[in-house]
Amino acid sequence: MSGRDVKSMTRDELAGEIASLGLPSFRAGQIFDWLHVRGVTSFDEMTNLPKTLRAQLSETFELRSCTVVRRQVSRDETVKYLFRLIDGECIESVLMHYKYGYTLCVSSQVGCKMGCAFCASTIGGFVRSLTASEILSQIHAAQRDRGVRVSHVVLMGMGEPLDNFDNVMRFLDLVSDEKGLNIGMRNVSLSTCGLVPRIYDLMERRYQLTLSISIHAPNDAIRSQIMPVNRRYPMDELLKACRKYAETTGRRISFEYTMIRGVNDSDACARELAGRLRGMLAHVNLIPANEFSESPFARSGTDTVERFAEVLRKNGVNATIRRSLGSDIDASCGQLRLRSQKEVDPH
Ligand code: SAH
Repeated sequence: MSGRDVKSMTRDELAGEIASLGLPSFRAGQIFDWLHVRGVTSFDEMTNLPKTLRAQLSETFELRSCTVVRRQVSRDETVKYLFRLIDGECIESVLMHYKYGYTLCVSSQVGCKMGCAFCASTIGGFVRSLTASEILSQIHAAQRDRGVRVSHVVLMGMGEPLDNFDNVMRFLDLVSDEKGLNIGMRNVSLSTCGLVPRIYDLMERRYQLTLSISIHAPNDAIRSQIMPVNRRYPMDELLKACRKYAETTGRRISFEYTMIRGVNDSDACARELAGRLRGMLAHVNLIPANEFSESPFARSGTDTVERFAEVLRKNGVNATIRRSLGSDIDASCGQLRLRSQKEVDPH
């Protein structure tokens, strides 16, 4: 199998491929539907195509999908998947059930190169970026496994989505295609640690998605200590890009703030943060830091988190506290990590 990655093709690109094979155009529509709506994992499942055509397609194209290696179900019914990709690399995704439906938290890379000190995704380094088809396949595999429909997607799993810009943009176009999964951009969130030039690139696309910024600190001194990316793109530049983004797209920016005991959780930090965000179309989501064995950090206490939120609100900034799901199975923010299949199944 060495053909081109068929599930990463847009509807127009697929139509072009099908035409160049001399096939009637309705075949492209059928194939797109099998790939994107039903999320099949082989051409053989495309039962309304003649057998000879299915064979021809599997010789011409590569069909990337995710295989479930492990499924863990949390007490709160959150499901964490370990998926295997075509080359044997593994990624994690998390399915969450809310009143309004199912949200899947997808990974965009195998590993991560951003090096945030408090995040498990960075342990083990970076292996490779995912293709659009591999990001989509996480949704397909979860839907099939649970027999549910995913209505919301958050690009908040392993990896830095804006460090895999082209594939992630392709993913966004495909996931929102009305003939595909048809998940509207307003139901998609993309989180970034702050790659400033790529934030401007994303702005140019005018997507109606929710942009989340992992801010985690009120100033450069603290931020550079815990997030190496801040040394390249300091807070002034980042917040300038955020202001411009919010003005241009009309979309409120969501700032994620992981609360680490004794590092970034003082009243002074809250006031300083409020000062920097004031006047921006913004919202702060506080996340008590999730712990993992290698992490040197401890989470802030509940009282501290609530006080921090109060100080933000008193200073004119919207703030909420994120409910943590799946913590008993290490499925919460910052707990997804590079794993090999061997770790789970040594045979
Ligand atoms: N690379 C992107 C996407 C990851 S989203 C980004 O940095 O935004 C995952 C979110 O969880 C990010 O906001 C990340 O900073 C946060 N996070 C990482 N480690 C965490 C931890 N130990 N506890 C709570 N949140 C954490």
